[in-house]
Amino acid sequence: MVLDSFSVRVALGVVTLTLLFLFWASFQRTRSPYAGWWSVALMLFFTGNCAFLLNGTEAQVWANPLGNVLVVSGAFSVWAGARTLRDLKATPLQLAAAPLVTAVASAVEAPAVNVWSGGFVYLGMMTLGIALAAWELWFIKSAHSQMHKALAAAAGLLAAYYLCRWGVYFMEGPSSPAFRTYFGPAPAGLVSLVLLVTVSFSMTALTSDQLIKGLKERATSDHLTGLLNRGTFLELAGSEVKRLRSSETVVALMLADLDHFKAINDKYGHPAGDAALKAFADSCTASVRSTDLIGRYGGEEFILFLPGATQERAESIAAEISRRMASLEGPGGFPFPTISYGVTSSNPDVTDLAAMIEVADAALYSAKAQGRNRIVGANRLAAEPIPDEAGK
Ligand code: GH3
Ligand code: MG
Ligand code: MG
Repeated sequence: MVLDSFSVRVALGVVTLTLLFLFWASFQRTRSPYAGWWSVALMLFFTGNCAFLLNGTEAQVWANPLGNVLVVSGAFSVWAGARTLRDLKATPLQLAAAPLVTAVASAVEAPAVNVWSGGFVYLGMMTLGIALAAWELWFIKSAHSQMHKALAAAAGLLAAYYLCRWGVYFMEGPSSPAFRTYFGPAPAGLVSLVLLVTVSFSMTALTSDQLIKGLKERATSDHLTGLLNRGTFLELAGSEVKRLRSSETVVALMLADLDHFKAINDKYGHPAGDAALKAFADSCTASVRSTDLIGRYGGEEFILFLPGATQERAESIAAEISRRMASLEGPGGFPFPTISYGVTSSNPDVTDLAAMIEVADAALYSAKAQGRNRIVGANRLAAEPIPDEAGK
């Protein structure tokens, strides 16, 4: 018995459309990129299958290749969605390559009369897209649920099914009894239905994973600069100090405050002030190692924790930050402010974070009092201004 492909397509269309509404609602609510990509994929599957319904009419000449391209694009959107769960992106080229190849292949094999025009490439690309999605889903690191493993297995089975479809298509052709019975549009539609049900079942778990992760990132970082917020910085640096003390590693701590920052806000506006804060954060990030900690301590005051850095090294990092900052200018060309620093490094007397911050703060206060734009070390209170040639 051969299943009636029209009915299966209609059923598949109805299920796809229902899921599309569900995913779209979820995307609107959560802004989860995963739900967003799935909405795109479902839309492509739906419109692709609608295009296939035009087979047998005069429109087949364009509708059939278009259907192939849309469905293949859908498979690669599923892959892109799975990648977002691993914090990876898909490049436009990666997304466009398979649909483009499918388009060419589908256009050259007499699509007006041949519903399987480009079938070999279409089935190959479907296998590839779904297999890549299964791969990505399997390797998601999730502390909250193992739902992605079930989804990866379902996608893996679908990829295996498409691989068989591809093989039988190649060996026996699309009109062979074996292909029509097991791998034609109707049985393939039924298999796709199983995957869609699995997906909708796991959707809540996966989008909430992404949601929790996003919330956590926002809770630990400063919204404007992307640096650690004060609480998170203190927590992380506090435990680092304890760890480093036992290994007797040197560590430096730096407080930095933008000079006459209020004047920038007053003269050029609040957005200009924000741009200066961001530029300072970027200059810091570019000047330190990825294992160093940088926090926004207050409005225009920043704190850096540099494990392994001596006093001298920390002061040269401060000079480097000022140099970078001075090489930039704000939107509209306004000059960025200079910076004052208070720097201290660990010594046997100073053993905890709070004490280090207190010492650095006194040094910073002294830098301000001496006229700003300078680096004051806790062990050497008199400081010259940061030379101009460092900047310009
Ligand atoms: P000093 O050289 O003594 O440090 O002077 P200052 O003007 O930099 O210091 P003051 O403490 O007088 O002013 C800090 C200003 O920073 C006041 C506040 O409006 C501004 N500020 C704090 N947070 C933000 C922010 O997120 N964006 C902007 N644009 N301004 C901010
Ligand atoms: Mg200031
Ligand atoms: Mg300040």
